[in-house]
This record gives sequence, C-alpha cells and structure tokens, in this order.
Amino acid sequence: MNLKPFAADPKKSLGRQFKEAPSELRNDFQRDRDRIIHSAAFRRLEYKTQVFVNHEGDMFRTRLTHSLEVSQVSRGVARTLGLHEDLAEAIALAHDLGHTPFGHAGQSALNQCMKEYGGFEHNLQSLRIVDVLENDYVDFKGLNLTFETREGILKHCSNKNALKLGVIGERFIKNKQPSLEAQLVNFADEIAYNHHDIDDGIRSGLLSFDQLCEVSFFNEISAEVKSESPSIKDRQHIRATIRRMMNFFIMDLCHESQGHIDKQNPTCIADVRNASPMIALSEDMSKKQQSLKQFLRAALYLHPRVQAMTDNAHDVINALFKTFMKNPDLINIHETHSQKDLAVLVSDYIAGMTDRFAIQTFKKLSQ
Ligand code: MG
Repeated sequence: MNLKPFAADPKKSLGRQFKEAPSELRNDFQRDRDRIIHSAAFRRLEYKTQVFVNHEGDMFRTRLTHSLEVSQVSRGVARTLGLHEDLAEAIALAHDLGHTPFGHAGQSALNQCMKEYGGFEHNLQSLRIVDVLENDYVDFKGLNLTFETREGILKHCSNKNALKLGVIGERFIKNKQPSLEAQLVNFADEIAYNHHDIDDGIRSGLLSFDQLCEVSFFNEISAEVKSESPSIKDRQHIRATIRRMMNFFIMDLCHESQGHIDKQNPTCIADVRNASPMIALSEDMSKKQQSLKQFLRAALYLHPRVQAMTDNAHDVINALFKTFMKNPDLINIHETHSQKDLAVLVSDYIAGMTDRFAIQTFKKLSQ
C-alpha cells in the first residue's frame, strides 16, 4: 500500500471505545472490515430493497450487492489517491447497515411511527448497529470498531443528534471534515447507485434506451460506443455505455480530488479534518451527475410500478410498530420500559427486519 501522509493510519487510530490487544496479522481497519462482514446486519442486506423489492427478481441489486459495488469503487479511488484501502472498504461495506426493509418507503414509515420518540434515521441507525446492537462479543457491545470507521459511517447528522453522540458527533458541531477515506465513500455511493440503477431500470423494462438518451451525457457516450462498434448488441451497448460513464466519473473524481489535495497540501489527517472537503467531482461532472439523478428520480424512483412495490410498506411497518408496542412479548421484550425506550427497541427490531421477514410477520399477525 502506497500510503500518503494524510491517509488514515491504523497505527495512529483514535482507537476503539473498548481497548483491545492488537491483532497479530491484521491492521485495525482490516479487523473492522472483517467484523462488519461477519455481522448479522451485513448478511441481512441481501434481502433488503435497494430500489426493487427483493422478491421482484433475482437480477436486481439488493442492499448487499450495492454495498459491494460501493466498496469496489471506494477501494479503487483510495488506492489511486494513496489513501487507506481497508478503511474505505470497511466504511463502504457498513454504510447502509441501518436501512429498514422496503428502502426509502420503509424508512419514512418508521420515521413517522417514531415521530414522538425522536424519529428514525437510517444513517444514525448504521452507527447504532455497529456501536450497540450487534451482540456477538463477550467483552463489549456492538462491534467495537475504530473511531475512523465509525466516523465514516456517520456521514450526516443534525446538531441535535450530534450533541448526544459525544466525540463522534463533534465534527458536525465544530464543522470539521472526516478522513478522506470517509469523504470518498460518499461519492462512490452516488456513482455506484446512479449507474446500477440505470442498469436495473433497463433490465426491468421500466426505463428505455430512448428515454435515457434524454440525459445528454448518456446520449453522448452511447453514440461514442456505437460509432466504435456499429454492430454491438443492445445489451452490450447499454453495459458498455454504463461502464464508460462510470469510468468518466471515477477518473474525474480522482483527478479533481488530487488537485484539491495538491492545493491544500495536508501533511497529516488532522490537516484533512480542519480543511475544507478535498474529495470532489469537477463542476462539469457534478452537473452531469445532477442531471442523471434528476432523470432517475422522475423516471425510475417515482415510476408507478416502483411506487407500487413499496406502497404497502407504510401499512406493514405501521401495523408491526403498533402491534409490538402493545405486545412487546412478541419480540422477546419482557422487562418494563418507558414508552420512549420501548419505542426505540421496537424500531431497532423493525429496522433490522428483511423485506420478506417483515411481510411474513405482518401476514402472520393479520391472520
Ligand atoms: Mg448506499
């Protein structure tokens, strides 16, 4: 690994909440990544909606394959910029752990249920999973990850919530930046989903090639691909266009970020935290990304068939929430809690459910 001095360094990590002896073979970020991969929350990502509900088809991305694609992009960018690949990988694999079943419809339903108890936010929940909810270890709660991985997982946070989180929330109050590894995973996330959603959209028949040509960047690249290989088959044409677009975004991210790093010239990670963000797309590619996102929102995320898939998310989540609040015994909560504490336990339980388990449970309870 060709680490730059401003990269996160496991030997200088701000540490774990519970002190542990170092591993003989692995650095601390590798160890974080391994703990994430072996966690129950990570395995459940396989059956959680990204855009398409898991049982709609086997070809679509799930939260799990999305997270793997984010990790692949993140590692590539980290390596190019001389940042710590293992840390970028750990953050990428954990970034969506806190998502509810049924994607954004599920999150908004649960947030609604939790309104009078402080609300629900998937990003905070990802941190809560690795800090508290995973329970495979005898000596500590959660996965006891390093500060750097936890900092990367918490990508946004209101000041109100940040005040409750101690050291990990400080940067939001003091307006500081996280490591470059954390910064780049946010971009990798967007690059990954914009492109895989085009792919899934076309595969599902909800988006057409002609429709995509309304996005001028797509149109331009697809024409370029076609002129190089005039007899290219449709499916390969789409895949080649997506690959080339993605490559443009990733190359641009690396070049633009390198430019900012050269200009700001950080000498250590503390400099990175005190400076303005250094990982960025160029203005031109940012605009292209914006128009791609607008297109996907209107044509895919708000498509009646996508909406219909998650239409009953509200009903399912609402019913589960009400039932478990009334009968906490059903989910093995036997001690007495205040309403607020109980609501948090119920929301932890519901957020952890996969799409199919939530539906099965809902059906069982409605019998
Ligand atoms: Mg994501």
